Formats: sequence, C-alpha cells, structure tokens
Amino acid sequence: MTTNPLCPACHGKTTFLAGESREALDRVWNLARCVACGTSFTFPKPDDATLQEVYRSCFSYEWYRDHYAAKKRDACQRLEEYRSVLGKHVLDFGGGVGYFSEVARAAGYDSTTYDPFTTAVAAAPASWDTVVALHVLEHANDLDRICRQMKAFLVPGGRLLLAVPNFSGRGYREVGMQWVWAQPPLIHLFHFTAVGLRALLTRHGFVDIQVSYHERWDANNHCDVTHARLYRISGALWGMPLLRRIPAYRRLIAMGNSRLRFHGLRRSLARPPANRAEYSELQVTATLPRT
Ligand SMILES: [Zn+2]
Repeated sequence: MTTNPLCPACHGKTTFLAGESREALDRVWNLARCVACGTSFTFPKPDDATLQEVYRSCFSYEWYRDHYAAKKRDACQRLEEYRSVLGKHVLDFGGGVGYFSEVARAAGYDSTTYDPFTTAVAAAPASWDTVVALHVLEHANDLDRICRQMKAFLVPGGRLLLAVPNFSGRGYREVGMQWVWAQPPLIHLFHFTAVGLRALLTRHGFVDIQVSYHERWDANNHCDVTHARLYRISGALWGMPLLRRIPAYRRLIAMGNSRLRFHGLRRSLARPPANRAEYSELQVTATLPRT
C-alpha cells in the first residue's frame, strides 16, 4: 500500500485523485492533491535522471524554435508588465531559449538566462536584484531545492517573480488535465494554487508576497476553454505526421496559429471575468528580507 506523501508546498496532508493515474516511461504516476492548499502533484516524485529522459524523448524544442516570434512578443508583453518589479540586474532562471533575458537586455537591463540543468557556467550568486522564473516551478521535481537555488542568486532585498499555470483557473476546472497547460504526469509535475505558493515562499523566508492572475497568448480562456476544441485542432496541424518534416510547412502553421492565438488573447481580455482568479496564469512576487 502506498503512503500518501505530504504536500511539498505547504506540508499539508494529501489524497490521491481517482482516475488521474497515468502511464509514462513504463510506470504508473499518480496525482496527489493537498487537502490544505489545493496544490496537486505527480507522485511518486520522478528523479533527475527520469526528467532528463523525459526532455530527451518527449519534449519538442522544435516547437519553441518555430514559435520564436510569438514567444518573443510574449516576452515583450511580460517586460512591460514587470517593469515595476524589475531591478537593474535580472536573472531569468530556467529561461530555456532565453527570450525574456534577450528582450530585457534590449530594454537596457543587465539580464542573463540561467538553467541549472543546461547552463555550463553558473551565474554569480547573491548579485541579482530580480530573479524571474517563468513557467519553471511546475517542471521541478524538488520545490525546496529550486527555492534554495533561486534565493541564492538574489541580493538582500531582491525580488523573486514566479509565473505558473493557475490550478484555480477556468482551464483546469472545465477542461481538467486535458487543458493546454496541465501536461501531466511528467512535463508539469506540479499544479499550483496561490495558497500553496504563499506557503512555500513563506517557508523559504520570503516576505511581501503578492499574487496576480493573467491571460497569455499560449493559454487563455477564449482559446483554451470556450473554443478549446477548435484551437486544439489548429494547434495539432503543426505536428502533423509527415508534414512536420517540412520546416516551411511547420513555420507557416506556427505563424498562422500564433496570430490566431494573440487574437484570442485580446478577445479573452476584452471580457474579463468577475474574478481574475479564473485566468490561466498565476503570478507571485516575493521579497528576500535584507536581514
Ligand atoms: Zn499544500
């Protein structure tokens, strides 16, 4: 019999969600949910070697290359939203291809991308005014380790900015684990709530924790809840067997789908819900105390 794990975010008790077990890499992964903070997560916890195997075998870096223009446009939108939080020195933690730091450098910030798994040279510790981690935490297998890593880069008084899929939003509630940003069991290991992230960051000594909710081009309620079927079909055109071997075809589909999705994002924002917690992205900022 499997013993229920404690919640890695708030250390609360958990239950297993019936019907949410999935098979991947020749074993079964369960989905546990915290009774206290609502955070859900893959259990058992995959180790580092398993995750490296996941990214080697199942993750499409090609998709990111083909959607470069859209990702860069998203990074520009984020930079505008984040200006009041950003200091001069900005570390883009786990930033993959590096869209955000590229856009930030062009706007005059001293910014670099650092990924603990892929960057050969470590960024300087305790020297960054702001650490941003955009859609990084949900991929991590050890929340305490990643919090310690991010914290070690900040100067005293520095700010941490996290963005993750919002487990309390309409997407998860109405589309479930088929929602575009759910990606269980091994791409996204965590499905976060604001209560869970608050508990996690408080435990790691952060203060002044602020929560906000957002819509994005690659996940919003217009595209991924109201018209989810339509956008899922248009998204699947990019990965069509045989055709996906033709780079020009892929790039054309990526361009068309990106335009459609930015249009969908505007539609979604034009009709805001009564409660912004319905939105797709959960964002949290927190300060590292000076003492
Ligand atoms: Zn919890």
